[in-house]
Amino acid sequence: MKKHNFNSGPSILPQIVMQQAAEAIVEFNNSGLSILEIGHRTPFFTGVMEEARALVKELMQLDDSYDVLFLHGGATTQFMQIPMNLLDADETAAYCDDGVWGSKAIKEASLFGKALVVASSKDKGYTYINKGFTVPTTAKYLHITSNNTVEGTQYFTAPDVSVPLIADMSSDIFSRQMDFSKYSIIYAGAQKNMGAAGVNVLVVKKEILGKIKRPIPNIMDYQKHIEAGSLMNTPPVFAVYVALLTLKWIKASGGLAEMERSSIEKSSLLYSTIDSLPVFNCKIAVEDRSRMNAVFFLNDNTLEAPFLDLCKKEGMVGVKGYRTVGGVRVSMYNALPLESVVAFTDLMKSFAASI
Ligand SMILES: *Cc1c(COP(=O)(O)O)cnc(C)c1O
Repeated sequence: MKKHNFNSGPSILPQIVMQQAAEAIVEFNNSGLSILEIGHRTPFFTGVMEEARALVKELMQLDDSYDVLFLHGGATTQFMQIPMNLLDADETAAYCDDGVWGSKAIKEASLFGKALVVASSKDKGYTYINKGFTVPTTAKYLHITSNNTVEGTQYFTAPDVSVPLIADMSSDIFSRQMDFSKYSIIYAGAQKNMGAAGVNVLVVKKEILGKIKRPIPNIMDYQKHIEAGSLMNTPPVFAVYVALLTLKWIKASGGLAEMERSSIEKSSLLYSTIDSLPVFNCKIAVEDRSRMNAVFFLNDNTLEAPFLDLCKKEGMVGVKGYRTVGGVRVSMYNALPLESVVAFTDLMKSFAASI
């Protein structure tokens, strides 16, 4: 049976990307070698790295004041690598406490300097985006989580602040058009919306670097990575290649405008179905509901297990809520076809009718 893949990450990738990646494992670009066995400093791979870096910039419409790095370690490494590069011990960085991932970033930053929480939505279980806050002008930067994968909230306007803005876009990168030049750093683990696990992308406005006193180990130093063309040491070659294939697929499908159109179509269908069926409820403030991860509950929680069982039986994969949140979570990343959301909402309706 065909599965509908609503996994939150690693998650669904375009079919064509998987075919191309599989072909490259057998033989990469008529090289007589697999992508898994080519040298990372050969033109075969340096071409991949250069094209991937350029495509990120092109899709985000950023100029040469920005650089793009593909780094090891997942988004979690960036929780510490960002303050290590930007925040001296006697300085303050501002953070929005937007959910599970944002609070981890705050903890890590406090190892390097002062992490000041300027906004939090913890008071209401992270069910909304806190918008009325101010940031001290002395803060080195403000960090937000643009989409909260676990809780199901998303920023639809960037905070208007005078300090450099940094966003963890792990779960909504390349899902919509926006003015990316408002950000000084954008980072994301690849495994949600742009590829396979094992690499993260970091987009950085170069002028914010090189301003701290702390010595930075080479492998953690963004400036050194920029100088090395994102090839300081062996990069995760295959993961970078899958990211390139996904970026090409995004461009060929109509770019961020099309990703946004499709994600509005899918998420509107799902949320309107939730709202129309009294069995289900979504606690997220309507204007902050994530288009990527819809988190919702059954009003009668004894119905949760039977609903999830039915989903499993019908080939709906990955819809159980995060372990600390519970309920249902449906992730609708770029590669998820509308037909999967149609199938899921049909299932919701028949479940509601059966009880
Ligand atoms: C998944 C996720 C992370 C963690 O990513 P890793 O690559 O596992 O380190 C961080 N932030 C957000 C918003 C995420 O969704």
